[in-house]
Amino acid sequence: MKIGFVKGNVKYSPYICPNTSKASNMFHIILFGPPGSGKGTQSEKLIAAYGLKHLSTGDLLRTEINNKTPLGLEAKNLMDKGQLVPDDVVVGMISSALDANSGVKGFLFDGFPRTKAQAESLDKLLKLKNGEIGVFLALKVSEEELVHRLLNRGLTSGRSDDTNEEIIRSRITEYNNKTSSVADYYAQFNKVVLIPGEGSIDDIFNALSKEINARMI
Ligand code: AMP
Repeated sequence: MKIGFVKGNVKYSPYICPNTSKASNMFHIILFGPPGSGKGTQSEKLIAAYGLKHLSTGDLLRTEINNKTPLGLEAKNLMDKGQLVPDDVVVGMISSALDANSGVKGFLFDGFPRTKAQAESLDKLLKLKNGEIGVFLALKVSEEELVHRLLNRGLTSGRSDDTNEEIIRSRITEYNNKTSSVADYYAQFNKVVLIPGEGSIDDIFNALSKEINARMI
């Protein structure tokens, strides 16, 4: 059941009600893991199973690049080197996407947040909508397996950052350096669950689903 909110003569929908003690019943998931850990594949299966809206900052940035926007041109330079795009750029994109999809059951964040500052901004944005992250699922895959998978993906993905092993390794290093603080951030709220990311696609999906089902109301 969705919880609405009435203040004076105004009736608010569950998704836009201002902060009250009643929590929104949307369920938001962060799917976390290094490049090549299978976030894209598992995201597709999870959004189909749970009716969530998929928000991938990598995809949003690639759309900007394809549309040749100023933001896309600036981001491309950094992405081609395997470096992170500035926090305010990705937080701005996520904020717009949250506003544009206010009627969904929940969001599945893929590739975001990648820094502690992004995590804190996301919490603030969700709080404005009376929501919060339900679970932070982290896929664990060895570095050699990641490099192998990304070089393979580069044969068909058309992504320039998937074709060069040096760039791939710097993306993994960038992930390891900057993103452990994101896991630490969510660990303080007991939201982090590690999931082995090597094995069959279905086994990994089942492991992810089990954790989501245990937390979804
Ligand atoms: P992905 O598709 O998630 O592997 O992202 C591809 C590239 O986009 C990354 O290597 C970064 O350069 C950039 N990117 C994607 N998401 C973020 C984010 N949350 N923060 C900063 N940069 C990002």
